[in-house]
Amino acid sequence: MTTPAFGRFFLPGPTDVHPEVLAAMQRPMIGHRSSAMEALLQGVAPRLAALCRASRPVLVGTTSATGFMELAVRNGIRRRALSLVNGAFSERFAKLVRAAGKECVRLDVPLGCAVEPDMLRDALRRTPVDAVTVVHSETSTGVLQDVAGLAAVAREFDDVLVLVDAVTSLAGSPVEPDAWGLDFAFTGSQKALALPPGLALGVASQRMLERAKTLPDRGLYFDLVAFEEATRKFQPTNTPAVSLLYALETQLARIEREGGIEARWRRHDAMRQRVETWSEERGVAFLPREGRRSWTVSCLKLREGQSAKAVVSGLKEEGWTIGSGYGALKDSTIRIGHMGDHTVGTLEQLLALLGGLLS
Ligand SMILES: *Cc1c(COP(=O)(O)O)cnc(C)c1O
Repeated sequence: MTTPAFGRFFLPGPTDVHPEVLAAMQRPMIGHRSSAMEALLQGVAPRLAALCRASRPVLVGTTSATGFMELAVRNGIRRRALSLVNGAFSERFAKLVRAAGKECVRLDVPLGCAVEPDMLRDALRRTPVDAVTVVHSETSTGVLQDVAGLAAVAREFDDVLVLVDAVTSLAGSPVEPDAWGLDFAFTGSQKALALPPGLALGVASQRMLERAKTLPDRGLYFDLVAFEEATRKFQPTNTPAVSLLYALETQLARIEREGGIEARWRRHDAMRQRVETWSEERGVAFLPREGRRSWTVSCLKLREGQSAKAVVSGLKEEGWTIGSGYGALKDSTIRIGHMGDHTVGTLEQLLALLGGLLS
């Protein structure tokens, strides 16, 4: 089997990992209580802060993103949360609330739609809760929600924490935990950060930390209080995925070389815009409306008689990978994960092939 060239793997996670990042993982092991580990964690801390636009410590966990979703729920919800559900990942967030023994009130909107700030205000007036769970970029439908607006509404109410899954937004489009007042925002390594899977990053507000201290069932692996304390000392809580930390270190340096997080956002915005122009020219419809489209994953509707399965396998034959739809939209939509280290140039080639298959 020949390995295809970098830049053709447009799955909406895991996404393509640059050869330089893969190579970084071949370095020998270091002890997790060694001074080398401390130096590594101390070295990445300022770059992580710049990446996450956060003044508070960025937690790095050895877990897939769902682990930090669990951390959010166990440390951020006292009794009852309102879960905004507009797709598969926001549904998972809601299920996790119940699985952790908390009450969950759902606010559902149809697939392809976003929960708008006014809807949240109405729901919070009707139902007192102590936290809201929200997915910023709903990868199953390609919808980008107005998290800044939603968080501002939550702030109108007393003591409502905002817990944000930023898995396919952070590192690909603006996420501003400090400026927007997010109480916990998290991502996973294999999406817009373009690392192999296995790490999660997260930032908690002071309010979240104070609340966590009052909650008895935080568990051990995802105890926010202990996690923050260790992070401040540049210590891992347990044995971390050392090789992935090497990859993270390398990727943060690459992001800096590109011109920092804002340059990375601009590249993702350009990719989103390229798909938009292409889809208009081709008469291919997006699932989400304009203004609510993710910068990292484009979800396109197929016409009657077209099948996602056929389109995906047609591209596969040419050596390219995209995602089919998710759940109920499996065969009626396709998803292009233009995130991480992808460029407008390779996206252009992909769209040319896709155009041929859809015509
Ligand atoms: C991929 C994804 C997740 C789940 O991530 P895992 O790393 O598989 O746990 C959660 N939320 C969103 C929005 C995602 O795209």
